[in-house]
Amino acid sequence: MTDIFKAPERLLMGPGPSNTSAAVLAATAQPTIGHLDPDFQRMMEEVKDLMRYAMQTENPVTFPISAPASLAMEAGLVNLLEPGDTAIIAQNGVFGGRMADIVERCGAKCVLVETDWGKPIDLDKVAETIKAHPEAKLLGFVHAETSTGAESDAAALCQMAQEAGILTLMDTVTGLGGVPVRVDDWGVDITYSGTQKCLSVPPGLAPFSVSQRAIEAVQARTTKVQSWFTDLNLVLGYWSGGGGARSYHHTAPVNALYGMHEGLRLLKEEGLEAAWERHARCHRRLAVGLQGLGLEFVVDAPHRLPQLNSVWVPEGVDDATVRGTLLNEHGIEVGAGLGPFAGQVWRIGLMGDTAREDNVDRLLSALSVVLGRGLKAAE
Ligand code: PLP
Repeated sequence: MTDIFKAPERLLMGPGPSNTSAAVLAATAQPTIGHLDPDFQRMMEEVKDLMRYAMQTENPVTFPISAPASLAMEAGLVNLLEPGDTAIIAQNGVFGGRMADIVERCGAKCVLVETDWGKPIDLDKVAETIKAHPEAKLLGFVHAETSTGAESDAAALCQMAQEAGILTLMDTVTGLGGVPVRVDDWGVDITYSGTQKCLSVPPGLAPFSVSQRAIEAVQARTTKVQSWFTDLNLVLGYWSGGGGARSYHHTAPVNALYGMHEGLRLLKEEGLEAAWERHARCHRRLAVGLQGLGLEFVVDAPHRLPQLNSVWVPEGVDDATVRGTLLNEHGIEVGAGLGPFAGQVWRIGLMGDTAREDNVDRLLSALSVVLGRGLKAAE
């Protein structure tokens, strides 16, 4: 007989998922009801309002995609791009690279603007590229690069795109709830995020918001959206259409949405500014402690995301051994480096509910014990 799975106690201080609060977990454990039940639909309307608050937007088309954030990335690109279109993708880490891959799968031409990993997106390079490609339809970028911990200037990128009359697609999977995200002030056309980072809701849902300009671009397509599941023309019949007109598209993940409702409700109760300040405060405490342990940040101070702290693995210390010891002996998860940073960088997350002073202190004391042993691969 297989035993019931019992999840171990962990302090999640990696790049996501972050710790989920007891309130969010309790919300998800409520009885499942029908996804077309009027009570569920009322809750969905509240989820959409709460998402508009979190994203600082009035966009009527703001809803959660029933999937992890990668599908939101794909949804944005497949809806906006038709074969033969040109998209400019600004890349400064792993996730900009994923955008570029999807652009090519749409049959569109991808013009990649690369910035060194660990730096914010180079605005001058993007400006030059926009100028050189007047045919471009879209500028895609990652606001908060989880692979490095660098924050890019989303407002400036959106302004450049607007001046050139091109659409913007912004990934703020790690940004939302941890640092300011101002969709309407910045004029972003498609914005998406994930639940498992600074919203502290279990993974599997993706907040998604679409401007009027982007809706018009989708409606002006001459070809069908390549993906049935993410075709906005179809999905909106489900997520809009109030007053009983809501039509079946797919079966919404009912209990997961209870959790998202609670996570967003708690964020509103705390207030966005207070949540941003809590992340910043914990980051400052962590930075002082890490520097005290002789660890150096990958990203320069003005561009650091408080919720994702990348530090170089010290010379002669084995990355995997230290992370394994933190997990097995201290119950703390920190993240490994990705791509060219694999084995060289630790990614320490202070996201959502994890961003608490006592968690920072627990990690710092565990790290000092582990590093004090000077762990090398052979140990
Ligand atoms: N974009 C960024 C910046 C991310 O950090 C992630 C995941 O970590 C994703 C996209 C993909 O999200 P998911 O793993 O939920 O599909």
